[in-house]
Amino acid sequence: MAGSATDTALVSRRAERFGALSYDYASRRLTFARQRRHAGTPLAAQLKEGLGAPICLTWELTYACNLACVHCLSSSGRRDPRELTTAEAIDLLDELRALQVFYVNIGGGEPMIRSDFFAIVEHATTHGIGVKFSTNGTYLDAGAARRLAS
Ligand code: SF4
Repeated sequence: MAGSATDTALVSRRAERFGALSYDYASRRLTFARQRRHAGTPLAAQLKEGLGAPICLTWELTYACNLACVHCLSSSGRRDPRELTTAEAIDLLDELRALQVFYVNIGGGEPMIRSDFFAIVEHATTHGIGVKFSTNGTYLDAGAARRLAS
């Protein structure tokens, strides 16, 4: 991974072999910026060499769930005993931050069933990692919705 991220309020940018990649958290727009010396090479050919890091990751934060839907793709219900602790989850986010991953998609299971859900989300967002997440909504009361919206 070359270079460092330049963060403003809503845009993160990182260096790549072909130039730079930036992600706008508000518009969810990913922008490839090529250095002039690479302009003659098709972007597809340059991308075959890979990115410096993933753009995003999907993270099944827990398999625990308060529901038992017959259509569940992840056979969720019970917490996996190997589930990451809060400290391990925070360490993982710090590693993703060092890699300059733009955002994580948090799912499960039902991620809001974890008592440290907001601590994990807030650690991510205050360290430059965007969060999208899936929920069955049963833990989403007005207070939780306000906290998420903030
Ligand atoms: S709410 Fe989602 S994770 Fe939970 S059982 Fe249903 S489909 Fe699976």
